[in-house]
Amino acid sequence: MFNAPHFQNHDKAREYLETLRWNGEPVCPHCGTIDGHYPTKRAGVWRCHSPECRKDFSVTTKTVMESSHIKLHIWLQAFALMTASKKGISAHQLHRSLKVTYKSAWFLAHRIREAMRSGGLLPPMGGEGKIVEADETYYGKPEKPRVSPRREKEGRPYIKGEKNRNNRPVVALVERGGRVRSFHVPVADAASVAAIVRDNVHRESRLHTDESRLYPVVGREFAAHETVNHSAKEYARGDVTTNTVETYFSVFKRGMRGTYQHCKEKHLHRYLAEFDFRFNNRIALGVNDGERAELAIKGIEGKRLTYRQPH
Ligand SMILES: [Zn+2]
Repeated sequence: MFNAPHFQNHDKAREYLETLRWNGEPVCPHCGTIDGHYPTKRAGVWRCHSPECRKDFSVTTKTVMESSHIKLHIWLQAFALMTASKKGISAHQLHRSLKVTYKSAWFLAHRIREAMRSGGLLPPMGGEGKIVEADETYYGKPEKPRVSPRREKEGRPYIKGEKNRNNRPVVALVERGGRVRSFHVPVADAASVAAIVRDNVHRESRLHTDESRLYPVVGREFAAHETVNHSAKEYARGDVTTNTVETYFSVFKRGMRGTYQHCKEKHLHRYLAEFDFRFNNRIALGVNDGERAELAIKGIEGKRLTYRQPH
């Protein structure tokens, strides 16, 4: 898997990254000047030619890879491993495969997850004649039991025995035959679900859900809101189904249970970003393993992260 020179050698890896990100025209990450730079004595370090800037930069400046002591060819191996495995790869596996410390592996994994996260404003999903499936699921346990104000007055604050309340809710939207967007929400109620659906789905879309009470109100804002009745064991009626979003959830849950058993709630959105990224760049959509790794690497820009300690 790692025979290519950029997986073997730090300088080859740097050249690979320079070509992938800049294609021969370095861009100053400090001021945005294109091709206005000259090389310094240090390999891979450029100095901006703009009189107001004149700062040094390299291909990793202002990226998730900045100020990392890990060699760049090891980074590229980590990108390849994380984008190729359907269910993800744990920090322990990365630590063994890459021969870096567990701590380094943990940092690599979280930064690569950040690179996979789609940033900025995304266009709405769906559109005229298109179908968007919406569904919610629950994963893991929140660190603090949720408190009901009514029960608190009664002196028994914690909601117990209500299965879903003790889990972390995740809402996902999938365009049929296309991409997914998933969200970790504090509570999956009609208001928070409606806000997500409204912000992300084109009004001309057909919205497909199960018969959950979360969707009927927001559903009226779309071209159609069609439901399948899971309690009556109905999973598809014509083209009405939520099978795609459920398939996404099952890959996510199997991956999380098998690979990432201990995920802190504050990191859950990054794990979701990782599963979204692989789903959105899957082979069925014409993306192969090599292209998927390149797309993740292109996401390194403008996403610096600092973490104090691995958990
Ligand atoms: Zn500059």
